[in-house]
Amino acid sequence: MAKYKLEYIWLDGYTPVPNLRSKTQIKDFDSFPKLDQLPMWGFDGSSTQQAEGRSSDCMLKPVAIYPDTTRRNGALVMCEVMMPDGVTPHPTNSRATILDDAGAWFGFEQEYFLYQDGRPLGFPADGYPAPQGPYYTAVGYKNVGDIARQIVEEHLDLCLDAGINHEGINAEVAKGQWEFQIFGKGSKKAADEVWVARYLLIRLCEKYGIDVEFHCKPIKGDWNGSGMHANFSTTYLRDKGGKAYFEALMAAFGEHCEEHIAVYGPDNHLRLTGLHETQSIDKFSYGVADRGASVRVPHSFVKDNAYRGYLEDRRPNSQGDPYQIASRILKTIATVPAP
Ligand code: ADP
Ligand code: MN
Ligand code: MN
Ligand code: MN
Repeated sequence: MAKYKLEYIWLDGYTPVPNLRSKTQIKDFDSFPKLDQLPMWGFDGSSTQQAEGRSSDCMLKPVAIYPDTTRRNGALVMCEVMMPDGVTPHPTNSRATILDDAGAWFGFEQEYFLYQDGRPLGFPADGYPAPQGPYYTAVGYKNVGDIARQIVEEHLDLCLDAGINHEGINAEVAKGQWEFQIFGKGSKKAADEVWVARYLLIRLCEKYGIDVEFHCKPIKGDWNGSGMHANFSTTYLRDKGGKAYFEALMAAFGEHCEEHIAVYGPDNHLRLTGLHETQSIDKFSYGVADRGASVRVPHSFVKDNAYRGYLEDRRPNSQGDPYQIASRILKTIATVPAP
């Protein structure tokens, strides 16, 4: 028997986007626990905008577990928030709205800024650093400073240790801006891992006196905003596809444009301007290899006129909830009958 430190993680009830919350409970296990060994737990919903003070209990239902190598016998336990009955999803539980589909695959490209003293890491106290240009995928102190790489490398290792399926990391276009990519098979897997990766990054940065800024356009002017491109595919899209199905799918995305934008992260009008590799927020478009379109169609998709593979929705922003994003994409796909 060993005492395991179980960090239960959940999303609170703040709008327009939830915050991560977590607390630890200690339990005895013979070896690293499996999901079905983890008990339900509760918390004070009146402190997280999820309940009134008079009847404040909310329940935590474990849905995924990851090793946490920063703690001896540590585990990160991603949870859904449930009503006091333990079976009804709480209204803030966006994960519960995702259609179950083992054949749905998502790849999220999470961009973010590291922030210190109220400005991006590497920005001078007054004014701006040299204009953007050299920072994307850069090497060198003058481009990335002395601490950012240590943070992103440490974060990468923590995520890999946790079993999170990172596909890569890169320095981004603005100074102090970075990206990681997470891919997962199953409609909820990548979204779970994005939330846990965000948690690990925010927590890691505490000891550096640095915050993670997920807002989609933290700096006005000629500085890139942050997105979270959502790459997606279904079994049908990968195996059958075809031009007619693809065009029907894109028509549905056009029809449901507003519902998509509603869950693609707050303040997206500041980012989706038609500049800086984006389409305007009120237009829907798609195009092969077009980084100025709402949906970019990879060359691989149209190869041999097959229209098969994955698509990239470029509109979700860095602050968006990957649960709500995955949920909406699958709902729109479900409106299109496969021939
Ligand atoms: P770019 O920056 O050019 O848009 P990235 O390499 O950062 O490209 O991201 C591409 C993403 O597409 C990756 O996150 C990858 O996981 C995802 N992806 C690749 N194949 C599929 C697929 N079949 N279904 C869903 N996502 C996919
Ligand atoms: Mn990318
Ligand atoms: Mn990027
Ligand atoms: Mn992309």
